[in-house]
Amino acid sequence: MTILNPNTESEYAAERTFVKSYLDRVPVSSAISDAQADVLKVKIKQLLAERNAVLVAHYYTNAQLQSLAEESGGFVADSLEMARFGNQTDAETIVVAGVKFMGETAKILNPEKTILMPTLEATCSLDLGCPSESFSAFCDDHPRHEVVVYANTSAEVKARADWVVTSAIALDLVEHLASQGKPVIWAPDKHLGNYIQKQTGAEDMLIWDGACIVHEEFKTRALEQMLHLHPEAAILAHPESPMAILEQAEVVGSTTQIIKAACERPEGKFIVATDAGIFYKMKQLAPEKEFILAPTAGEGATCRSCASCPWMGMNTLENLHETLLNNLNEVRVDPVLCRKAMLPLQRMLDFRQSQTA
Ligand code: SF4
Repeated sequence: MTILNPNTESEYAAERTFVKSYLDRVPVSSAISDAQADVLKVKIKQLLAERNAVLVAHYYTNAQLQSLAEESGGFVADSLEMARFGNQTDAETIVVAGVKFMGETAKILNPEKTILMPTLEATCSLDLGCPSESFSAFCDDHPRHEVVVYANTSAEVKARADWVVTSAIALDLVEHLASQGKPVIWAPDKHLGNYIQKQTGAEDMLIWDGACIVHEEFKTRALEQMLHLHPEAAILAHPESPMAILEQAEVVGSTTQIIKAACERPEGKFIVATDAGIFYKMKQLAPEKEFILAPTAGEGATCRSCASCPWMGMNTLENLHETLLNNLNEVRVDPVLCRKAMLPLQRMLDFRQSQTA
């Protein structure tokens, strides 16, 4: 296994400083009262109807956006389900509450539709940590390898890939490729890549050195101490978390798989190692159960609030309302790039289809 180091700590530090300074200036939905939120929700629902638009929100967005998506006939989902949703709706406009790569993916899969986002500035440390030029050069140096990239990448990186996957499908796909003896380049999340390699035994796998700044913050020793306090709890972890966290978990899976486990497992209490936004859906589907956030790095953490993605937090009722009212923040992807990036995305969807058929 080879690990690349395309980013230095200082580059990440600069990005984190930018995010923090941006977030300090941006009002977030938690700053408005429930009454103000209700007024905005009514206005947004009306605008969605007028525009024949539908709101799709990721599990990591705030609870107000998730509930609005459900109340207005939209959808709350992980990135795989979000990618598929566009094909299943007659709406002319899809409003994606999430981060940039999710809006781009929606556009790539639905080039004929208008894709809007509450903000175009919400990105992702995985996307930022995998610049298309250096990644493409690396792929050129390893022409025998199947290039498998996570959905958390730019349209340019997707266009360079053979496969685009989400965490819900990554394990199955790499297992499939390994069974055919194919060498694999995996990018950009090193923790997910290491987990996949360990699970599949894929021997020839080159792993890019990217990471999610939210999941990286979960702390192993503090998790052990938390488990001592709650010995009856099961640990549910997203595979973007470090290996030492995953090794302690009863369930490792995508957001959808974690939610499913919380509903179906016999335990009444869970320690959850992923973004806190997921609690909205967990509490909705399993209100009788208790959910505790896995411990993070406290004050020293890179995120504004630990286990809370700063970029997901840029999506608010206020900027969603502004977007619809003033027709802002349309996601545009070059049509040629769209067609190139569509191929590995469609392969993922076809592969998923073949798995469930
Ligand atoms: S939670 Fe991590 S992987 Fe998800 S958008 Fe935020 S930085 Fe990216």
